[in-house]
Amino acid sequence: MTCRELNDFLADYRSGELLPEVRSRFEAHLLRCATCAAYVRSYGETIRLARAAGDDLEQQLLPTEAPRELVDAILDSVGSAPPDADPTAPPRNPPRPRR
Ligand SMILES: [Zn+2]
Repeated sequence: MTCRELNDFLADYRSGELLPEVRSRFEAHLLRCATCAAYVRSYGETIRLARAAGDDLEQQLLPTEAPRELVDAILDSVGSAPPDADPTAPPRNPPRPRR
């Protein structure tokens, strides 16, 4: 197995969907290729970090109590926002029928 093939199989390897035969070749390559071994380790680490970051993000998006400054800022921006419909805007041309 080449380094490129290993890279292609990595996602299946991580999800446990690799065929036993391919998996043994995959692991044999890891034993003799330090580059790929380090890559697989960092790949797993990246997923772990992404999941941890995702958990943090979820907590940030679902605050139990919104800070007072944030509420004020939102109310201010809503009050100063321009209306959606602009009466001076020209009407849109109707779509031409395709022939
Ligand atoms: Zn390799």
